[in-house]
Amino acid sequence: MMLTNFHTHNVRCKHASGNVSDYVEKAIEEKYDMIGISDHAPMPKYHKDRMDMSELNGYIEEVNEAKQKFHKQIKVYSGLEIEFYEEFNDYYKELLTKLDYLILAPHNYFYKNNYYSAFDIQNDTMLIGYFETIFKGVKSKYFKFVAHPDLFGFTYNFNDVAKEYTKRLAELCIEYDFILEFNANGLRRGIKKVHNEERYLYPYKPFWDIIKEYNVKVLVNSDCHNPKLLNDKYDLLAKSLAKEYGLNVVDTCF
Ligand SMILES: [Zn+2]
Ligand SMILES: [Zn+2]
Repeated sequence: MMLTNFHTHNVRCKHASGNVSDYVEKAIEEKYDMIGISDHAPMPKYHKDRMDMSELNGYIEEVNEAKQKFHKQIKVYSGLEIEFYEEFNDYYKELLTKLDYLILAPHNYFYKNNYYSAFDIQNDTMLIGYFETIFKGVKSKYFKFVAHPDLFGFTYNFNDVAKEYTKRLAELCIEYDFILEFNANGLRRGIKKVHNEERYLYPYKPFWDIIKEYNVKVLVNSDCHNPKLLNDKYDLLAKSLAKEYGLNVVDTCF
């Protein structure tokens, strides 16, 4: 299996450190075969706390320069991690002409004209909206994989609705040959108490138990916001947990 990571940030998102080449150099040092740079995408609306639209071209240039500079040591891919809003269809298409890939990030979403945060799901309606948004994103074919598809575990415990929608997601992934991400950054957040459960916020095991049943392809990613964290103990833990859970782990989305 190749050593890879397709979920990597940089200083532009305002909550990460290091520039693109810092992450690429660290990946080379750790003997990675591939690294995908995927900072939070600038958005025409809703998200102002990250890379500005005016920084996008500079970001893409920097990734392309790293591709050239390090091409003998590592394969570098250019990407963005981005939320899915149907109103931005043209924007996703435009980005795909400039970048190698997009990651579907369900951090925020609209459902029945309400705007929600996946970090604060409080009832089944919000949970259904979360999953429905991912379903639309998968069907759009703009994305290579869903980042932390179990992010609802941040505030919500697994119930019958979660079970039903996780099954639907798994079926859709099989139909579309779509990959789900097993995200090490959830492990870095530590074990927390969510209502009555003491656990990692994500990866959230009952979700992955269902994904395993369907044999959906799973990509383990670092989601590192600091170059030092690439291949850290949480990346290694994520890889061993994914194996322990019996998941169908793949090493690339290309
Ligand atoms: Zn981030
Ligand atoms: Zn991320």
